[in-house]
Amino acid sequence: MAAKEWSPSSWREKPIAQDVIYEDKAHLDKVLTKLRRLPPLVSPVEIDRLRNQLADVAAGKAFLLQGGDCAELFDDCSQDPIEHKLSLILLMSLIILHGSRLPVVRIARIAGQYAKPRSKPTEMVDFEVPDESSGSDESKKTKSEKREILSFRGDNVNGYDKSDRAPDPERLLGAYFHSTATLNYIRTLLLSGFADLHKPLDWSFSHVRSPEIHKAFSAMIESLQDSLDFMKVATGSAAGGGERGGTQTVDLFTSHEALLLEYEEALTRSETGSSPRSFSPPSSKVSTPAVSRSVSQIRNTNESYPHSPVRPSKSPKSGDNLQNSFSDIRMEDKQTEKWYNTSAHFIWIGDRTRQLDGAHVEYFRGIANPIGIKTGPSMKPEEIIRLLDIVNPDRIPGKVTLIGRYGADKVDQFLPAHIDAVRNTDHPVVWQCDAMHGNTKSSQTDPSLKTRHFVDIITEITKSMAIHREKGTILGGVHLELTGEVNEEGYSVTECIGGSMQLEDKDLSFNYRTHCDPRLNFEQGLDVAFLLADHLRS
Ligand code: PEP
Ligand code: MN
Repeated sequence: MAAKEWSPSSWREKPIAQDVIYEDKAHLDKVLTKLRRLPPLVSPVEIDRLRNQLADVAAGKAFLLQGGDCAELFDDCSQDPIEHKLSLILLMSLIILHGSRLPVVRIARIAGQYAKPRSKPTEMVDFEVPDESSGSDESKKTKSEKREILSFRGDNVNGYDKSDRAPDPERLLGAYFHSTATLNYIRTLLLSGFADLHKPLDWSFSHVRSPEIHKAFSAMIESLQDSLDFMKVATGSAAGGGERGGTQTVDLFTSHEALLLEYEEALTRSETGSSPRSFSPPSSKVSTPAVSRSVSQIRNTNESYPHSPVRPSKSPKSGDNLQNSFSDIRMEDKQTEKWYNTSAHFIWIGDRTRQLDGAHVEYFRGIANPIGIKTGPSMKPEEIIRLLDIVNPDRIPGKVTLIGRYGADKVDQFLPAHIDAVRNTDHPVVWQCDAMHGNTKSSQTDPSLKTRHFVDIITEITKSMAIHREKGTILGGVHLELTGEVNEEGYSVTECIGGSMQLEDKDLSFNYRTHCDPRLNFEQGLDVAFLLADHLRS
């Protein structure tokens, strides 16, 4: 059965999970209209480049490192946090590259990773309220009261502060501008030589206190300096092209979970194969054909174009002829037109929003970006195949990354059947291990804190590698929640247990800063990279 026509807004016809309800719809519409006018954050050329690099990953010719915050905050859009995050990802990629002799494709969960799915839409919290029985003047006391409030859904929806939980459409614009500023600074850093392979020790490494990491890193730098072989791989020549930047800079791509479809739709832009290349505003009507037109063409049609900044003229002068020529253009463009989500290079569908007939899968099936799909214990093997058929009917290599998040104790049970199911088809996928989301536990000393054990993270990665080896497939990459963030005294965050710093449960409260899931800190990120390098070498 042929798939129904897709448009950037056809997801609106489908049931949606994890939806955000805005009270002021007029305000939301105003914000979305503004977003549609704002320029793309990334370009189709960059997006296509990433898809090609991911095709290399699928073929075992490159390794994918994806990492960043669980929930990025608007406050993270600041010089130090961006530099620390970038340093960590660059260092990790260098370590992996050195060990594996494989080019590393770097995707950061940054410049847009704001929205969060939640297991519960509300939570019970303690609220300080005035105690009416305690007098009427300034001496009036407060008392603590349990209240049910909306859960924090990410900085682009509501505030973390307990009194700021109502979804505010204005935050979508905040997301756009914070993403833009973050991306601008990343591009500036990269263009200014921040990723120059000749000076990796400058990458905020000085605060690392672990002597083990210092030793391992110095040894690596020594061998790196006279490794011609290594430089060849680093510049991309070993994978058949110099596209990954020379030794002075590298490619770094952005990603986020595409949860808020109104936002994603507003940044979905068309790129036609026809010349001149133009971007058209997306329509909110499912039936509107996906055609890019110039403003003067739109002026001369009767067709309503609800989100265009230019109102269609009521009485076209030569409407019939134009209509005819438009239908010709439509026929032609149907074959060549592509729609790109220009809010990030790579977006993924979360474990809670991947329903086959749901809004998110509908949106994802129409865009040309490389995409990720989270797969876990609740995913049936046949469901993966149906999903792949929907989102990648043309079997484009590099298009789909399956991001497994099973948990160290469940990966043996579920991954093999998922691999078998995909192997029985001709779907070219990237297999990636998200070693975080199946391994979340509560702290023993403070059950209100979520944590993850370094050993579980490494176990899930190494088990996944072994399972793939046995099946004759390849674990192409890892997906990690991590941060280079430090406190005022220069101490890394303490959210996950273990690693070379040997963080213990009792240490968690020392510098626990995440507003969502626990992240590997700078040292733990490097620990993972060294272990990965060892495994990929062997
Ligand atoms: C996440 O990546 O932060 C996340 C919520 O993951 P998942 O959808 O796999 O639970
Ligand atoms: Mn998370």
